[in-house]
Amino acid sequence: MDLVFRGRAMMPDGVRTVAVGVQAGRIALVADADAPLVTTTEVLLADDEVLLPGVVDTHVHVNEPGRTEWEGFASATAAAAAGGVTTIIDMPLNSIPPTVDRAALEVKRARAGAVARVDVGFWGGAIPSNLGRLRDLHDAGVFGFKAFLAPSGVDEFPHLSVDELERALAEVASFDGLLIVHAEDPVVLEAHPGRGGRSYPAFVSTRPPEAEAVAVQRVIDGVRRTGARAHILHVSSSAVLPLLARAKADGLRITAETCPHYLTISEEEVPEGGTQFKCCPPIRDAANRDLLWAALLDGTLDCVVTDHSPSTVALKTAGGGDFDAAWGGIAGLQVGFAATWTEAERRGIPLSRVVSWMTASTADLAGLTAKGRLREGADADLVVFAPDETFRVDAASLKHKNPVTAYDGRLLRGVARDTYLRGRPTGGAPHGTLLSRTE
Ligand code: ZN
Repeated sequence: MDLVFRGRAMMPDGVRTVAVGVQAGRIALVADADAPLVTTTEVLLADDEVLLPGVVDTHVHVNEPGRTEWEGFASATAAAAAGGVTTIIDMPLNSIPPTVDRAALEVKRARAGAVARVDVGFWGGAIPSNLGRLRDLHDAGVFGFKAFLAPSGVDEFPHLSVDELERALAEVASFDGLLIVHAEDPVVLEAHPGRGGRSYPAFVSTRPPEAEAVAVQRVIDGVRRTGARAHILHVSSSAVLPLLARAKADGLRITAETCPHYLTISEEEVPEGGTQFKCCPPIRDAANRDLLWAALLDGTLDCVVTDHSPSTVALKTAGGGDFDAAWGGIAGLQVGFAATWTEAERRGIPLSRVVSWMTASTADLAGLTAKGRLREGADADLVVFAPDETFRVDAASLKHKNPVTAYDGRLLRGVARDTYLRGRPTGGAPHGTLLSRTE
């Protein structure tokens, strides 16, 4: 073996004390803790550590090229590795060009290839102008297609109309692809215009639960008609949960995610002018947050992803705390796993559930069969995690590019002491690889 870990490990069936043998970047063997495995390098986990499969974060905006001053592959993947994340899948927008054709995908792959500290895959985009031509990008290896139903925030990534959503679902169904949807309804949003200002509740009132519910129902109806497979991105409002539960009970191929900021922060905690907390859909009240947790526990929601969507400090604080003026997006890639575990532990939810939502479930969403589980044959993407060690988040010391985050100052539980990608520590020369969808 190239490397052997001995100690407690989060296996698919729970925590066991084992020996994990790594060979050629893969988990070659899981054996009894005292099994006599021959190796040059042995890692003995401390009593307060548990070996986890690396986090698979399927919702990350890297923004390179085009808005590399917001974030980039070098900084984002360094932040990921520091937080125990070993795979990211990059969103198609906020970079220029957006990932809406094969040429744009190749541009991104070229940028990421040399600098990635973790494995990187890509979502494609479905916009009005590339409908009818999605198959080419699918064949080029994207994991699925992202679409917006309301304005995305950037001009080069327009949203789909009601008719275009239906066409996109039908097209994706024709090659058994996946459509992932930012589900807010533009008509509802237009009926709740913002008047600006530093009041967070006033901002939340411009993105009401009804906007999410109307849009999610539209996706569900389209899935029912077309047979497509769809995934609802960043569920923020509990209003969509009964809709999702019914769709799943009906056997529709629909899944959904939520994010650490919706699970760990509440509207009541956001200060006046606290635009580092601005995202769309917004962080809602504490009662809503409880319902999101319940939906994860009962399977209505499938997974937890960060939706890491940073910008420059200037854009994030534009308008001096005016919620209409500031960029909407929360930077949480490095601390999302710890934040989710911190809140789960407070609620009496075991680490195994958090790990499952952020590793196996997200790997399954993307069809990454070699990721997300600590088992023989999987990639040796492993994290030495200290679940009870606490730390205080300092935005300036995080590894993403711009020192702004909604988690600044929070006391979190759970430290990724060492992260291994394909059996090698992520701290040396970058050795992340580019991932493509496999059938
Ligand atoms: Zn996003």
